[in-house]
Amino acid sequence: MLYETDDHRQIRDTARRFADQVIRPQAADLDRDELFPAEIYARMAELGLFGITAPAADGGAGMDTLAYAVVMEELARGYASITDQCGLVELIATLLTRHGTAAQKARHLGPILRAETRVAYCITEAEAGSDVAGVRTTAERARDGWELSGSKLWIHNAPVADLAFVLARTDKEAGRRGMSIFIVDCAAPGVTRGPKEHKMGQRASQVGALGFDSVALGPDALLGEEGRGFHIMMSALDKGRVGIAALAVGIAQAALEAALAYVPQRRQFGRPIADFQGIQWLLADMAKDVAAARLLTHQAAVTLDAGGRATLECSMAKCFASDAAVLHTANAVQIYGGSGYIRGFEVERLYRDAKITQIYEGTNQIQRTIIARQLLGG
Ligand SMILES: Cc1cc2nc3c(=O)[nH]c(=O)nc-3n(C[C@H](O)[C@H](O)[C@H](O)COP(=O)(O)OP(=O)(O)OC[C@H]3O[C@@H](n4cnc5c(N)ncnc54)[C@H](O)[C@@H]3O)c2cc1C
Repeated sequence: MLYETDDHRQIRDTARRFADQVIRPQAADLDRDELFPAEIYARMAELGLFGITAPAADGGAGMDTLAYAVVMEELARGYASITDQCGLVELIATLLTRHGTAAQKARHLGPILRAETRVAYCITEAEAGSDVAGVRTTAERARDGWELSGSKLWIHNAPVADLAFVLARTDKEAGRRGMSIFIVDCAAPGVTRGPKEHKMGQRASQVGALGFDSVALGPDALLGEEGRGFHIMMSALDKGRVGIAALAVGIAQAALEAALAYVPQRRQFGRPIADFQGIQWLLADMAKDVAAARLLTHQAAVTLDAGGRATLECSMAKCFASDAAVLHTANAVQIYGGSGYIRGFEVERLYRDAKITQIYEGTNQIQRTIIARQLLGG
């Protein structure tokens, strides 16, 4: 693969073997029963698949964003809903290593990377989805620290999280400059959890609401500078988008492989359906878009690692790869015919799993807005 070194190939092999041997065989059951696979996460942590870009001194793998993309793709080829957890840990580890105090890192990073502490990344609210500046959760200064009030919804890991990283308004008059991030112990008095949501796809990941009713926080709960929360959360999203792009590539690759395996076997009109040009052209479109999505994703990762601005590349990769995943999982269902529409066939699950990649980490309408703004210099 272009850009990949021996280190990348090695971690690709590790992730691929784990996905083939451990994750993929359990995917259908995890999807059907919406199970949280704690054991799989513990094994992923042992293999060093959490915190790929976190510094080795902090307990991470100390690798680059390209390595992170490679791992995300391979795991998602096995089952995307498992891969989400990897992306979430990466995002939180990035926030902590970039903005955490020595004490916050020492306390939280190790247990998070070992999958002992489960984390949640809390931005979205009922009135603040794409418009993050609309966040209404507040943190007010109290005698000894802060008092947090508000609620978040559709939060990954909310039903199982130990620690929530919460974007809250600390100055009602200051717009985007009036937001800060707080590290909240989910067992603290005043923290409540809503029921688990039942999702269309990626059903092993647990998503729900978190409520904060006058939750008392110490001064050490503040992550990064007061008033910089919006900027900090947004700056982490570039790497997050590379992760989702890679996850979408993994889903699309799995759909391509499933289609390629099916077409020589399925016979109609006395011939394998692989003989029909209508099917061949679908396969050709799948293969070229998967390759293009992978290249865009790797280019975004390499640009991020080079230290320059990569917002354009990251948004293009996320948008293109997720659109390709939705289109080509639908094509894989089409190639399977009626079987593709039946629960238990992998392509049916892949189609459902792909859809959310166009929605979270910034919808694809928002990605297009970002891309256009970058092009126009806005
Ligand atoms: C399974 C799942 C997991 C999630 N995990 C998390 C999580 O861990 N943490 C978290 O904070 N959030 C999470 N979310 C929330 C997710 O990030 C939001 O759903 C997403 O940002 C979109 O917000 P919204 O749903 O409110 O849609 P809205 O913002 O209401 O958008 C509705 C529609 O309008 C379009 N739209 C909005 N604004 C514009 C515009 N300016 N121009 C053009 N079109 C526009 C959107 O693209 C969309 O099509 C999760 C959601 C789901 C479903």
